Amino acid sequence: MGIDPKAIDWDSLGFNLTETRSMYKAVCKREGSWSTGGLIPFGNIELSPAAGVLNYGQGVFEGMKAYRTIKNRIVIFRPDMNAKRISMSSQRLCMPAMDKDLFLRAVLATVKDNLDYIPPNGKGSLYLRPVVWGTAPVLGVKPVDEYTFIVYASPVGPYFKGDIKPLNLLVTNDYHRAAPKGIGNVKAIGNYSASLLPLIKAKNEGYDEVIYLNAGDEELIEEAGAANMFIIKDNVLKTPKLAGSILPGVTRDSVLTLAREILEIDVQETDVTLNEVCTADEVFCTGTAVVVTPVGKIASDNKEYIINGEKIGKITNELRSLLIGIQREEREDTFNWLQSVD
Ligand SMILES: *Cc1c(COP(=O)(O)O)cnc(C)c1O
Repeated sequence: MGIDPKAIDWDSLGFNLTETRSMYKAVCKREGSWSTGGLIPFGNIELSPAAGVLNYGQGVFEGMKAYRTIKNRIVIFRPDMNAKRISMSSQRLCMPAMDKDLFLRAVLATVKDNLDYIPPNGKGSLYLRPVVWGTAPVLGVKPVDEYTFIVYASPVGPYFKGDIKPLNLLVTNDYHRAAPKGIGNVKAIGNYSASLLPLIKAKNEGYDEVIYLNAGDEELIEEAGAANMFIIKDNVLKTPKLAGSILPGVTRDSVLTLAREILEIDVQETDVTLNEVCTADEVFCTGTAVVVTPVGKIASDNKEYIINGEKIGKITNELRSLLIGIQREEREDTFNWLQSVD
């Protein structure tokens, strides 16, 4: 039922599950619509061993954060984007899409009931994990007849506790994350089970994450683990275009907007070759967890490429400051990205 929030040591939070008071639950029959749902105490769930999610991986998720700004308001960053994406993800796996209102109600209710689990300003955030899965039993391969939607929360620490440390990435030629026309463009749970082995192997060799190449000819970069990738060369910002195997990140979209509208630099959503990445002026990754994180070193084919002297590059730093500034309310929220929880 959640640990006592007063017992949490805010300075020692990492990215682990800390159980909170409550979670939001709604259900849906395949041909029906989603129940209104409501909050229940955080705890274990009961599931048939034949549940669709356990046997055939019918499950999708989202990741977002609620946090205190310097104005001491509690906000969530662009939750409407996550609402849209979970519907897309659900439909790809033949699960009923939910309307935006249910998603937002569930997320807001979860935050409001767990306010005392939100770390103080600067100490981290309340990570929100909406999940949808096939609950009903099934034997033959087909979409099941009943689905469950749960939003749970966990306080987490900041990605970097002290100074920013640029990432050390390993290009893999042994594994692909996603195939064209597969499910790489949705947040399907199965994508992440496939990424565990490459990640563990890379970590064992001392790298932070894996760079995945395109499944076709391995000439192009796709993503770095569960983060989108960007490069800067001669003041042009480039990121792989959304052509089916790239996850459309909310942070990716926000960085593109900031680069176009505020920095007014040339922005290209296009093919990005591995060679371009290794010779770029700056490389960085984006995601809800990593925000904007510089890449300092890339290993590919037993060669090492140092990016920008393993320091955070100028444009990377500008984009990171702009985004964090808006999120913390140190800058004006020009694009209306913050959803207030109060
Ligand atoms: C979630 C995710 C991202 C980042 O998306 P954000 O919306 O920015 O958090 C990027 N790539 C993959 C594969 C992901 O699962």
